[in-house]
Order: sequence, then structure tokens, then C-alpha cells
Amino acid sequence: MIELKNVSKFYYNKGVIASGFTKVNLKLDMGEFVAITGESGSGKSTLLNVISGLDSYEEGEMYINGQETSHYTEKDFEDYRRKYIGNIFQNFNLVNSYTVYQNVELVLLLNGANKKDVKDRVLNLIKQVDLYRFRNTKVSKLSGGQKQRVAIARALAKNTPIIIADEPTGNLDSKSARSIIKLLSEIAKDKLVIIVTHNYEQVEDYVTRKIKMHDGKILEDKKIKKVEKEIDSSNYAISYQNITFLNKIRLGLRNTFNILPKFLLLLAVYLFVVVALMSEYSTFKKEEFEASTQGSNYVFNDTSINRIVINKKDKSIFNDSDYEAINKLDNIERIEKYDLLLENHVELNNQDYLYFYGSVHSLDTLNDTVDIGRMPENDNEIVIEGNKNDYYLGSLSEEVVQDDFYLSNILAGDLENKKLKVVGIRYFDDDDYYTMNFYVDNELLKEINTWFTIVQSDIKVLFMNNYYDVDYYNNNFKVIPSNYVTKGNVYISEDLSGYCEYGNCLNKQLKVEIDNLYTKASANFNISNMYNARNMNSLLGISNYEEYNGSIFINTEDYDSLFNKGSYQSSVFVKDPTEVDSVTKSLEDMGYHPLAIKDTLVSNNLTQVLRIMKTVVTIILVATLLFISYFVIKIVLKSRNIYFSTIRMLGGSKKVSKQLLIIELLAVANIAYFLFILFISLNRLGFISLSFVDTIINYLSLGDYILLYLILILMSYIISLKYAKKLFKNSVIKTLAEEV
Ligand code: ADP
Ligand code: MG
Repeated sequence: MIELKNVSKFYYNKGVIASGFTKVNLKLDMGEFVAITGESGSGKSTLLNVISGLDSYEEGEMYINGQETSHYTEKDFEDYRRKYIGNIFQNFNLVNSYTVYQNVELVLLLNGANKKDVKDRVLNLIKQVDLYRFRNTKVSKLSGGQKQRVAIARALAKNTPIIIADEPTGNLDSKSARSIIKLLSEIAKDKLVIIVTHNYEQVEDYVTRKIKMHDGKILEDKKIKKVEKEIDSSNYAISYQNITFLNKIRLGLRNTFNILPKFLLLLAVYLFVVVALMSEYSTFKKEEFEASTQGSNYVFNDTSINRIVINKKDKSIFNDSDYEAINKLDNIERIEKYDLLLENHVELNNQDYLYFYGSVHSLDTLNDTVDIGRMPENDNEIVIEGNKNDYYLGSLSEEVVQDDFYLSNILAGDLENKKLKVVGIRYFDDDDYYTMNFYVDNELLKEINTWFTIVQSDIKVLFMNNYYDVDYYNNNFKVIPSNYVTKGNVYISEDLSGYCEYGNCLNKQLKVEIDNLYTKASANFNISNMYNARNMNSLLGISNYEEYNGSIFINTEDYDSLFNKGSYQSSVFVKDPTEVDSVTKSLEDMGYHPLAIKDTLVSNNLTQVLRIMKTVVTIILVATLLFISYFVIKIVLKSRNIYFSTIRMLGGSKKVSKQLLIIELLAVANIAYFLFILFISLNRLGFISLSFVDTIINYLSLGDYILLYLILILMSYIISLKYAKKLFKNSVIKTLAEEV
């Protein structure tokens, strides 16, 4: 069966050559029960390891069933071991965290058996070594003799033709030792059993052959008993398959949980990685976001970072269904229909000592609450919003809500004939000293918008074949709406009659053209009346001729269709500034032209440099974090050396070991990740509220969560790969020896 011809084994250690054994000649056959004896260091273990294929040899030739093995690769020897050898060691090499049953089962699973199929066999073997009572006991709880019985059951499980036992009784009391030897002798009847022992007397009653070694050589080789039956050993090799996928998962998961402290330690490391990585990354994103919201802009007046300016793609006017649809989006705080009102501030004054400066908004956005006074109930009643510490709004608030106010604007001048009453005051929540808001009803809002539209428009009047610009200083050709004028007609000032032939302008045509950023419009009118100081009151219902002289009056509806078409540009305000990008995207998808104000802000060079530096620091920090965790996990895994070299000894390949480890690490990684997500979700849903996760919740996107998950998987994969590589760098026997 096995034959050694002049085989020698040398050890190379740091340039020094030591001899394990030299020029050994030996022939071993099935049915034999061989005892190898000799003093310590004589080469017994080395010889067994070479015969087991656990270690290589340097000289001579070893034959297995007549086949040369000197050209064998590591893989060939692995194959040989799986088919032929069952090992029993002095120090058992069992998986301590597994039960008796699991230890015996392990070898069968590793060799491709089905979990269900092996149950009877495993239990029978356990009965055979008289451990049935302990089948579900963890091996770590057993005595030495019991442990060695488990090792024997395991060696028998695969039914290999050769059982090799290196001092199996070395750690046992004499009673246990005797029963182990007896057990082995029973096995030996149809196998080749080789046993190394210090104590020959213990075995002499059973063995068929005695080999004595001294100083690396065979000193004596003597037949003790005749082998009872000759067995044909040529086709005795057992067949095996690779471990099934399902069993890999099973073993991987078993390994995850069966050593609790190890599991908790790994879980802690992974949790540390997840939490540290996520908080570091979200803090970075938060700072990035905040940096992106700081800067200046020369186009827009209101640079709120939650503002998105929108136009319609066809440049048409916004209508109610537009606003309704936009309001249905998530995260909308409010819509400001008239953008001009955000861009142009007004002054509110009582024509005496009080004046406020701010922007005009719709009462609809006020949410029906004021701090002083009441909500508006009649036309031209308004609410002021500002800081409580403002002298007038705070201490003099009683006076403010009594007074009449008028609006004016630097460009548009005064909004005439509008007596406004402040009926309510509202205070800001935060310490904003600089802005004030005026809330007005929608009629007035529209009127103020028209007022601004006119200022921002280029208005020309075509009159007697000449174009005239509106002269706001002298009021010439200033267009004013009046209900006294019928549609399509215009009343002009008598002062303008000088432009007409013989001073008669009646029934002549006049055209008004308007041109602004958003639109062009024009309308033709028939001059149906001319007013002067005397007839003005009867024609137009107003009397102060000096103030209006030069203006032209048209019907209110005509006026509205020219100047009050509606809004071409509105602004959407988002509740949470971090959602600006997603709302912008939705608006784009709905067919609008969105422009997020935060994207128009320009930061200066110093901020840019600081941002780059911050990015670099974050990358270094994250890398350090990953490295630290990586090394901690590697140290934790050092305690797994025994397990994985046992797996290897039992026939598990490098690939299988790697995969088992991956499953184990991935299980922990997934649990850590799940706990993290659970924690975040509980915070999100309000079951717990810890402010430090706010940053994570607010600034991390789905993509970031996926990225983190991939990092965890990659980290686990790299660790498994490197670990398996290291584990398989040395021979089995060396890896087995290293951890003892
Ligand atoms: P035994 O099992 O009979 O006590 P071994 O087979 O363990 O003896 O050792 C035989 C010789 O080989 C001894 O001289 C020992 O020092 C040497 N040896 C064994 N293993 C190694 C090793 N890994 N490196 C160097 N020398 C070794
Ligand atoms: Mg030894």
C-alpha cells in the first residue's frame, strides 16, 4: 500500500539544516497495526507527517499503491489525504466550540456529504466510541480521553483505508489510554493503522508490527503477529465530493455565532466602522453643503438657500393648476407666485416718523397666526413680520397697529391712493434683524406686482407716428387705469393736443407697447376724450389736474391685460435645504425650468482651498479608520487559526476556508449594518431621538447607504482573502503547530 525508498526529510531553519529522518525504507500494508516507538526527537512524528501527506519530503521516493509521489503538488497531497488518511493527534485538534456530533459531522460535510444522509452514520460512530450520552455536548467540556474518542470517531467517519495516530494516548491517564488502544486495534482489522507511542507495553498485546526509531533512522522493524487477512488495497481509496453550497452557508453561520465573545467583538468592530464612517462622512457632507450655501450672487436679491426660481419652458404664465401640482411635491414650504416681489423691497411708511423696509408676501403663506393684533379681515389690511427686539415692532407695537401706512419703492416711487392698515404683527422665531415681511391680500399682491412690472418694463406710446417713452417725472404718457374710460378708448390730456393737427386728437389712434424681461405686449386705443383741469372731475372722477397732467387713461380691463398678465417667474421654497436638489429634479421632470439659488452662489478662493483640504483630511481619516478596523479584525481572527487548520487537515481546500470565513464575516457585517439601519429608522420615526444622528439622517442619501454596505462587503472579502492566503502559505503541519 505505502512504500518508502531511501526517503529523507530535512528542515531548513534560518540557514540551519536539521534532519527529521534519513534514508528510511519501509513497506506498509492493509490490515497491519503498526507501532512506532523511539525516544523523543528520533523522527517518529516527522515520519508520520510525511506518510500522511501533511508534510513534504526532500529525498528518495514514496509510493502510494505503486505510484510515485515525488512530483506531487500540494493539491495532489490534499487529494491523497482526503482519499486515504484519517489523522489522530496527541492534542486532539478538535473544534472546541462544536459539539461532539458537529465535530464528527464536520469531516463528512467538508467532503461533500448531505447533512441529512450522515445523521445515522455520525450517531453510530459516536456510539462506537461510547460517547452517545455526550453527542450534544461541546467538546471543550469533555475529558482528554473523551476528546480522543471524538477524534477517533472523526478519523473513522470518512472510512479511509489508513488511520495515523501520533501519540494518541500521550495526554491520557492509563485507563483511558488502554481503552483507546483497544478501540484502535478493532479498527485495524480492515485498515492500516499506524500508531506512535512512548509506551510500547501499552500496545504490545494488539500490534502486528513494531518499528523502533533512533536518531532519524529505523533501528528495528519486527513482525509481532501475522496479519489475519490479506486485503486488496489497490481500489480501497474512498471517493469524496466538494462541500455543498448549502453546507458552506450552514458552517459559516454556525461559526459566526458559536463563540459568543468572538462574535460580540467582531460585531463591535463592525458597528464601530459603520457608525464612525457614517458620522464622519455625513459631517463632511454637511460641511460641504453648508459651504455650498455660502457665497454671494449679483443677480438675485433674495439668496435664501431653500429658494428655487422657476419658469415655464414655453415661457407662458403660471396658472393655478401649475401651483397646485407643485404644492403636491414633498418638502414644499411655500410658493411665492410673483418673483418680482422677492427681488424688489418696499418701504412702508406712515408719512411721518415710522418706516419699515421689507418684502411683500401673500397672506396665504402666513398660516393664520399673529402675535400682536389680529389677522386682516377687510381690504387693505396687512400684517408685518419682524424681530421682537425692533423698537417699533416691540415696544411701540400698539401704536403701529393703529396707524395708516403707504407703500413706496426706490424705483417705482409711491403706490398712490393705497391707504394700508397694519392690523397684526408677527415675530420671527430666530434672531433675524435684517428682514421684514409684509403680508397682504392677493388683490393687493397682484397690484404691487403690476406696479413693479411697469417699472421694469420698457413702455412706449405710438402717437401721431412718433414713439414716446413714458416720462415718469413729468407724467407725460404715463398710463393710468380708470373705470370711467370704456374699453378700447383712451382719454388724453389736453396738454398733448399740440402733437395733433390743428390741436384735434379726437378719434385718432394711440398704441401702447410694453416690453420686459418676460414678455412683449401691445394694444391700440381710440382717443375718445381729452381732459383738462375743468372737465377732469366729470370725465375721470378725479380733480387734482396738476398731478395727472400729461397722463393717459385707459379702461381697467385693458390695463390689466397689458400690465397685469400674471406671473412668468415664481419661486418655490423648500422646507429642508438639503432637499433642494431632489425638489429641483422633480420640478425639472414636471417640465419647468428650475434654478436653485444655492447653485448660483459663488464662493471665494480661500473657501475653495479650505474645502479641498477638508476633503483630503476626511479621506485620510476614513482610510485610517478602515485600516484600524481591518487590523483589529485580523487580530480577532488569529484565534481562528486552530479552526481553519483543522478544516484544512480534514480536507477543506483554500477556497472553502476562504468562503467559510467570508460567510462568517459577512454575517456579522450584515447584522451590524442592520442594527445601524434599525437605529436610524427608529430615530427617523421618532421612537428615539438622539441629536447626533440628525446629521446622518439629513445628509446621507440612499447612494451613501449602498456605498457603505459595499465598503463593508469589500473589507470582509479582502480580509478573508488575505487570511486564507496566509493560512495556506505553509504546510498543514506547520499551521497546525503554530497555534499550539
Ligand atoms: P519525535 O516525534 O520522534 O519526537 P520529531 O519527528 O518531532 O521527533 O523530530 C525529529 C527531528 O526533527 C528532531 O531533531 C526535531 O528537532 C526536528 N524537527 C522536527 N520538526 C521540526 C521543525 N519544524 N523544524 C526544525 N526541526 C524540526
Ligand atoms: Mg513526536
